[in-house]
Amino acid sequence: MAFTRRSFLAGFVSCPLCAAAAGAEDAHWDYEDLHNWGEHSTNEACAYGGEQSPVDLTGAIKAKIRAPVLSWKPQAFTVVNNGHTIQADAAPGSFATSENSKFELKQFHFHTPSEHAIDGKREAMEAHFVHAKEGGDLLVLGVLMRAGGSNKVFSAIMGAAPRTKGEATLKEPVDATALLPKNRHFFRYEGSLTTPPCSEVVNWYVFSTPIAVAASDIETFKGIFPMNARPLQPLRRRMLLTD
Ligand SMILES: [Zn+2]
Repeated sequence: MAFTRRSFLAGFVSCPLCAAAAGAEDAHWDYEDLHNWGEHSTNEACAYGGEQSPVDLTGAIKAKIRAPVLSWKPQAFTVVNNGHTIQADAAPGSFATSENSKFELKQFHFHTPSEHAIDGKREAMEAHFVHAKEGGDLLVLGVLMRAGGSNKVFSAIMGAAPRTKGEATLKEPVDATALLPKNRHFFRYEGSLTTPPCSEVVNWYVFSTPIAVAASDIETFKGIFPMNARPLQPLRRRMLLTD
């Protein structure tokens, strides 16, 4: 299924992760001033973009689409508190393949409450698995999370998470696929980063079934970041598909 491709903003920040890695200018931002994110010239997409994320996942069109094929390596992730979230940085060599494009897993991180909603309902948290390919397009897998179970990988990450800016390394390798739901039905649409610079370069796949994690681990995250979710953005004329 072909997607209409990108507004003028796509070329604007063609590789946000590269820019970050290169130490490019990074305007200060936080969740208390999220209505001002677009004021900085490098972040104009936050205010003026037409294909922003997150969105309410509702009214999806059923289509013959496939979830990305994942080949992730178990590893002892580096767990970073970057001042906006807790993020696990991945070593090279883990991939998601979609429609013959191969994207490499760069990192995954968490939001509370969930950024995406389903039929208007948000969950306690959401994990984003960020994959990039050459040229700057991203593929992000979203996993909704709720309290009521336990998840060893999430517990290990929250156990290592620095309470202030800094990093730690997991003691043992973990398999991040344990953070995915067993039921892999998903929503798909084209959108943006949910943080500045809000670049419209993201192929979003959000699983429709949440995973269950320990309430105490959610509380640990909220103790560090009480709220780090962007408000819902209008879908406008974009297609929202489901498998
Ligand atoms: Zn995110």
